[in-house]
Amino acid sequence: MAKTIPTAPGRSYLAIPGPSVMPDAVLRAMHRAAPNIYAGELVEMMPGLVADLKRVARTDHHVAMYIGNGHAAWEASLANVIQPGDRVFVPATGRFGHGWGETARLLGAEVEVIDFGKQSPMDMNPIAEALRADTDHRIKAILAVHVDTSSSVLNDIPALRRTLDEVGHPALLMADCIASLACDRFEMDAWGVDVMVAGCQKGLMVPPGMAFVYFNDKAAAARARLPRVSWYWDWAPRANPQEFFQYHAGTAPTHHLYGLRCALDMIHAEGIEEVWARHTTLARAIWAACEAWSTEGDFALNIADRDNRSTAVTALRLQSPDATRLRDWVEGELGLTLGIGLGMAPPGDEAWHGFFRLGHMGHVNGQMIMGMLGGIEAGMRALDIAHGPGALDAAAEALAQG
Ligand SMILES: *Cc1c(COP(=O)(O)O)cnc(C)c1O
Repeated sequence: MAKTIPTAPGRSYLAIPGPSVMPDAVLRAMHRAAPNIYAGELVEMMPGLVADLKRVARTDHHVAMYIGNGHAAWEASLANVIQPGDRVFVPATGRFGHGWGETARLLGAEVEVIDFGKQSPMDMNPIAEALRADTDHRIKAILAVHVDTSSSVLNDIPALRRTLDEVGHPALLMADCIASLACDRFEMDAWGVDVMVAGCQKGLMVPPGMAFVYFNDKAAAARARLPRVSWYWDWAPRANPQEFFQYHAGTAPTHHLYGLRCALDMIHAEGIEEVWARHTTLARAIWAACEAWSTEGDFALNIADRDNRSTAVTALRLQSPDATRLRDWVEGELGLTLGIGLGMAPPGDEAWHGFFRLGHMGHVNGQMIMGMLGGIEAGMRALDIAHGPGALDAAAEALAQG
């Protein structure tokens, strides 16, 4: 009988695509008495935090901080640039694109969706066509998910910028980098992104609880045109480190700020380019193994082309119910927790048990990835799930090549 609670002694690995593995140093930084929120270390820490958050996203513009999760970041971003009746455009490549669009609809926006399905990145041709058809520029914003964590697709945000520029459409380019920030390369200013949303519990390695909305001057001007912005979501005071959490924003997320300080120190000590390169190397090992497994049986990567895969998360398919059996076995026997499939089939539907995901974002290294892959191999052997040979050799070779 498969167990559902990890019973294996030793360190477990939560290999789900968020929340991610937290470094011990981050946990230690948070383990302290409540600090004074009005003066002293915490207040003095704020300008440096803002600067280092901007460095992670490669931007010189603004970042607002909220107590909230990714869903809060979605709502915060929209509340500053969209009013009821405005149109937003969603090129969806998985469940999270639809989710951000739904958030806009519930705020009163008209939402136009092009659905690219669950296995493909955005195609710029129909997007250009839709933008060209919008001759009176009713579309105020494009809501683009950089990495859709449900499908594990990586979208080409610079290509989307070029498409907007070629058509000459003034809509704001808004990117969801909740899964990709500090994992997959992202350069807000160089890529011409106007608004970017992120959370702290994926590549930033902090427990869930903080949301970030980055915005440039074009987006700030869009906010200035709105007749009203709600008190809580207004990004203007939250982007000002002198005022932040002291006068306008309520109690600071004290311990999260200490955790974030530590995580940003770790990221910048490694170097953001090196962080991206590490995720790429580890992802190549995972892809090599998965491609080997997929040569026999029903094992399949959700995204066929390597260029369109995120380096932070990998969505996989098996014959139902093997994905669930495999997840249960590796969790119960090995202390390895794999992610459920998301948005591929409705929960309760038999097909749901044919999807799973690997999270490899943030605080991960080669031995963790080899352990995860070895665990999956052991699980498929134990459960007689047909799979191609040579996966672990292929992963080791990928790591050896760096
Ligand atoms: C995780 C995630 C979200 C949602 O974040 P929550 O913190 O769960 O609200 C949104 N978009 C993407 C791409 C994500 O990976």
